[in-house]
Amino acid sequence: MKILGYAAQSSTTPLAPFEFERRALRPNDVLIEILYCGVCHSDLHQARDDWGYSVYPLVPGHEIVGRVTAVGSKVSRYKVGDSVAVGCLVDSCQECHHCHHGEEQFCLNGRTDTYNSPDRTTGENNLGGYSTHIVVREEFVLRVPAGLDLAKAAPLLCAGITTYSPLRTWKAGPGSRVAVVGLGGLGHMAVKLAVGLGADVAVLSRTRDKENDALALGAKHLLVSSDAKAMEAAASSFDLIIDTVPVKHDINPYLPLLKVDGTLVLVGQVGQLSEPSTVPLVLGRRSIAGSLIGGIEETQELLDFCAKKNILPECEMIRMDQINEAFERLERADVRYRFVIDMASLKAAK
Ligand code: NAP
Ligand code: ZN
Repeated sequence: MKILGYAAQSSTTPLAPFEFERRALRPNDVLIEILYCGVCHSDLHQARDDWGYSVYPLVPGHEIVGRVTAVGSKVSRYKVGDSVAVGCLVDSCQECHHCHHGEEQFCLNGRTDTYNSPDRTTGENNLGGYSTHIVVREEFVLRVPAGLDLAKAAPLLCAGITTYSPLRTWKAGPGSRVAVVGLGGLGHMAVKLAVGLGADVAVLSRTRDKENDALALGAKHLLVSSDAKAMEAAASSFDLIIDTVPVKHDINPYLPLLKVDGTLVLVGQVGQLSEPSTVPLVLGRRSIAGSLIGGIEETQELLDFCAKKNILPECEMIRMDQINEAFERLERADVRYRFVIDMASLKAAK
C-alpha cells in the first residue's frame, strides 16, 4: 500500500513529504491508520544523525495512536475499529530471556525499533509514525483504554514509558522522594507519573522560568541547578533522580543530592558523560544507572494506569507541515511540553 509520510533525506535537510510503500499484511500484522503522533527529542536526534547510525530516507515517529483498519488472517487480539497505539518497539526475537520476561527493549538478539531499524524479515529500514498508516505485528500493538483522550495519549508511548519504567524499577511511591532533571517532554511526564505513584517530587531546572508549571504538574518545588546554595540545602534528600537532559552535561552537581543508596538514572543523553566523581558514590553508596524505554507489558500497564488516574501529557497540537519549526523549538527547549502531530493535517494535504 502506497502512503504519505514526512522524511528527512539527509542529516542536514528539513523533513519533507515522502511517498512510500507499507508492506502487505503478514498473518499476524495489524494495519493502523495513524491519528496522532508525538514529537520526541529522539526524532530530532535521529533526523540529524546525532547518534551516528541514521539511515535515510528517515521517517521519524514512535509515539503513535490510531485506529485498526485491517488485520492479518491470524490476528486474535485486535479487530477493525479498535483504538490502538505503537511505541518505540515493533519487533524482537520473542525467544530470549528478556523477551520472555516482558523486556523486549533488552532483546538479546537485538530489538527492532519503530523506525531507523531493519525489519527482521526483509532487512528493509523501518519507517515511523510521521505518516498516515503503519503496519505492526500484533504483539507490539498496545490497546488504548476507553476513557484515555486519543489526541493526548500519544506521548505516553515514549515520554511516558521511558519515565514510568525507572520509577517502577526503583520503586517510587509513597514515602519516596524523586527529583526530575530537565522539564521537557520526558521530564514533565516523570513529574506527573511520580506524583501519580504517590512520591514526593521536585524539579531541577536550569532557570526559574518553569517554576509555576512544575508546581501545577504536582511537584512540591523547583530547584535551579545553578543555585549552589539551594543545591547544598537539598543534599542527601532524594531516593531517585531521573535525568532527562538530551545533551552532554555535568552530573556531578546532582550526585550529592541523593540519599545513601540513592540512584541517578540517566534516560536523556546517549553517549560520553563528562567525568563523574566517584566521591559521592563511594561516600554514600550511591549509584548511576541508565534506563531504556520499557517493555510491551509495562507500556500497557502504563496506559491502563494513566486511564485510571486520568494522567495525560500537556500537548501542543501541530500540523504535519509545522514539523521543522517544531524541531527548532524543541532544540531551544521551547515546548510545553510535547508537540503532537494531528495526522488529519497530512491526510488533508494529500
Ligand atoms: P525535551 O522535550 O527537549 O526536554 C529536554 C529538557 O532538558 C529541556 O526541556 C530542558 O529542561 C533540559 N535541557 C535541554 N537542553 C539542555 C542543556 N543544554 N543543558 C541542560 N538541560 C537541558 O526532550 P525529551 O523529548 O524529553 O527527550 C530528552 C532526552 O531523552 C533526549 O535526548 C531523547 O533522545 C532521550 N530519550 C531517551 C529515551 C530512553 O529510552 N532512554 C527515550 C526517549 C527519549 P529545563 O529547561 O527544565 O532545564
Ligand atoms: Zn522517544
